[in-house]
Amino acid sequence: LHKVAPMKPIHKSSKLLNVCYDIRGPVLDRAKQMEDEGQRIIKLNIGNPAPFGFLAPEEIMQDMARHLPQASGYTDSKGLFAARKAIMHYTQEKLIPAVGVEDIYIGNGVSELIVMSMQALLDAGDEVLLPAPDYPLWTAAVTLSGGNAVHYMCDEQQNWYPDIDDIRRKITPNTRAMVIINPNNPTGAVYPDEVLRELVAVAREHGLILFADEIYDKVLFDGVTHTSIASMAPDLFVVTMNGLSKNYRSAGFRAGWMVVSGDKSMAKDYIEGLNMLASMRLCANAPGQHAIQTALGGYQSIDDLVAPTGRLARQRDLAWRMLNDMPGVSCVKPQGALYMFPKLDRKMYPVEDDQQLILELLNEQRVLLVQGTGFNWHEPDHFRVVFLPNTDDLEEAMGRIGRFLDGYRSR
Ligand code: PLP
Repeated sequence: LHKVAPMKPIHKSSKLLNVCYDIRGPVLDRAKQMEDEGQRIIKLNIGNPAPFGFLAPEEIMQDMARHLPQASGYTDSKGLFAARKAIMHYTQEKLIPAVGVEDIYIGNGVSELIVMSMQALLDAGDEVLLPAPDYPLWTAAVTLSGGNAVHYMCDEQQNWYPDIDDIRRKITPNTRAMVIINPNNPTGAVYPDEVLRELVAVAREHGLILFADEIYDKVLFDGVTHTSIASMAPDLFVVTMNGLSKNYRSAGFRAGWMVVSGDKSMAKDYIEGLNMLASMRLCANAPGQHAIQTALGGYQSIDDLVAPTGRLARQRDLAWRMLNDMPGVSCVKPQGALYMFPKLDRKMYPVEDDQQLILELLNEQRVLLVQGTGFNWHEPDHFRVVFLPNTDDLEEAMGRIGRFLDGYRSR
């Protein structure tokens, strides 16, 4: 007879205890349950262009299909040479200095590279400055990697630009790096050159590494242009992230990249760490890598995403106007990306738990949003709206949010 040990409860690793990623959290589980019951929910919760009719350009899909037979093997750990060459040319267009093919790492989306870049860098006690609100994967990756996430405020009164004084106040001898998300998720802010120059000056004064998440750098409205912060910092060590998910509506292809630029002389050891982590996961998915050269070098039709009269711009205008028309709701107009981050007046809406608020909205009106605290915002007075659904759905959703808030006020 074999001995059988009694089964013990299986706990998650303590590494995960403080890690938080609410975009796919408990409210989404409830939404799935409601859908299983046959209810139709209007989803303004995830920046995934394809399900809303923003499909990848035809040429990318054809090239990927054509390359499928070659794509069944592993690639170089850093990625296909031709794809990295195309990325190198893109960094040249964006004036990012000192980038060769060896300075480029392709990953399974930017997500994998965010985690990898933090895992390779941080020791216990190291601090990383992150924006509040932020794209929460950054905070999660810092925490998972044993570092401390320190949030600097972005100023809603100033178009959600980073508050430089707040950044200065929060720098300590343990600060290693500063993360800049531009164009920003969740606020839609696009930082002008003066702001970027100030950020570079702070990094220079304190010897900080810059991590620039620029995954929305082609999703721009109102004629604004985007500058890569790395182009202003040839004397600093900068890691810039970008990919196909948003600019080329190819989130499911999982094709992202990370570029190290500027002064690499002091970063040899860190780069060795990045190389090791890239090798340990062998390579990024190869079919997705085959899409990169075609996307960057070929067909550039992102017009329906960005043109002033394009679908996305019209949807942004509609959602922004309808939100601002609601009593006690104010919203900065986004200049880029797929999101806006409206504010609820605290007197009219004395919310204590914004996740509960979002859950009630879902239950009562079948509209799905993400609460502001899910983006490491410190007060329960914001939520994020994704404006990817078509105008009919957006109008319907805004009407339902308005009715829900009317009900909240008269409670
Ligand atoms: N960075 C930001 C700011 C994002 O908003 C997202 C996705 O929403 C990502 C990174 C992850 O993108 P990817 O699909 O390349 O993993």
